[in-house]
Amino acid sequence: MIEGRLLPGMVPTAVQEIVPVVEQRQLARDTYFLRLACPAMAAQILPGQFLMLRAPELTDPLLGRPFALYDTYADDEGRPAGIDVVYTVIGKMTGLMSTWTPGKDVEVWGPLGNGFPPPPSGRLMMVAGGIGQTPFLAVGREALGTKSYGLPARAPQSLPSDVTLCYGARSRDYLAGIDDFQRAGINVKIATDDGSAGHHGFVTELLGQAINEGEAPNLVYCCGPEPMMESVAEILQAAGIKGYVSLESPMACGFGACFSCVTRILMDDGTWDYRRTCVEGPVFPAERVLFDQ
Ligand SMILES: Cc1cc2nc3c(=O)[nH]c(=O)nc-3n(C[C@H](O)[C@H](O)[C@H](O)COP(=O)(O)OP(=O)(O)OC[C@H]3O[C@@H](n4cnc5c(N)ncnc54)[C@H](O)[C@@H]3O)c2cc1C
Repeated sequence: MIEGRLLPGMVPTAVQEIVPVVEQRQLARDTYFLRLACPAMAAQILPGQFLMLRAPELTDPLLGRPFALYDTYADDEGRPAGIDVVYTVIGKMTGLMSTWTPGKDVEVWGPLGNGFPPPPSGRLMMVAGGIGQTPFLAVGREALGTKSYGLPARAPQSLPSDVTLCYGARSRDYLAGIDDFQRAGINVKIATDDGSAGHHGFVTELLGQAINEGEAPNLVYCCGPEPMMESVAEILQAAGIKGYVSLESPMACGFGACFSCVTRILMDDGTWDYRRTCVEGPVFPAERVLFDQ
């Protein structure tokens, strides 16, 4: 392992390191759990923040790829030891990642981005589509007060009365990590496009149902494909519920230098401007994101 070094534009504590893979296992169809030994990053990272990953020995793929914090893990003395990510194979880098075995050296940099705000009291609902469930294990654990993240450790101001994950996937074989969420004490509601598990239909319909049945959440966090996040933002706006979305815009550097991940955000005066998903995001207030670009 080489000593972590600061990248330009990064917050003073972010690191870039070569770290070993500790564990890799398949969780669901095309979906893997990857554990990396990176204590410096694990000690600081917050739910909703992300890290960049690349293979240090290769120039193809040259650019790193962003992955959300799934969770941190601790050593035998309870000190932060590393980071877990969960990813779906869709292209070059994720295909390569699925071949990594324990001991493989990987380049990482982070923690990056803003993360989700600590949730207030009341009902917190997390709405995820596709691989968008990955940020919500750490969000849920922090919200339930069973685990702390950040340096100094961030504590929720008051615990939510209920933490629910509404998780939508194409079919049951793509559902990844449900046991992790349930073991953490998070209520899990499933929707699948083909009806092979849970509600037969879109995950957004579970949010609509909760609102119609008088169990509207006080706050919604959302991550997934853009059309799904746009639909969630519309439902929240109509119901007057506060929400945040975590964007998954493709990006090259992850720390604000390349501007490849800009997205259109509404300003206070009603005009819009570009904001970088990697630095000012990836989490934005749902009502501020202009999805129609
Ligand atoms: C903040 C953030 C957090 C993320 N967290 C996770 C995570 O926890 N788990 C996970 O599996 N993925 C996550 N992603 C998405 C992940 O970074 C991409 O899946 C990954 O970059 C794909 O790399 P690749 O080389 O395998 O695919 P590529 O070969 O680069 O691309 C294959 C195809 O997918 C398209 N594509 C690539 N990236 C995206 C994207 N972000 N959105 C839409 N289309 C895309 C390309 O245009 C191309 O058509 C996150 C993205 C962001 C921005």
